[in-house]
Amino acid sequence: MNAPRCGAKTRRGTSCKAPAMANGRCRMHGGKSTGPRTPEGLERSRKANWKHGLYSAESITERKFIRQLLRNSRETLEQVEKNVEAEAVFTRF
Ligand SMILES: [Zn+2]
Repeated sequence: MNAPRCGAKTRRGTSCKAPAMANGRCRMHGGKSTGPRTPEGLERSRKANWKHGLYSAESITERKFIRQLLRNSRETLEQVEKNVEAEAVFTRF
């Protein structure tokens, strides 16, 4: 046993003899992964359970933009229709 040991207090009251990991404890005493740290790892973690992205900020803003665009074009069309009607009234008399 020359690798560094965990040394955590076990249920028997003795110290744990399992090999320690980088943080000084073994895999059973808090030595396991502390989660992704690199940008790639964090991104991979975020995307790991990604289903369709329907509620992602990106697609919500895209939908908002398209809805606004449709609203604007509807209003423009209404204005054009009103102008055409007004012109028709003017040309009649
Ligand atoms: Zn241990």
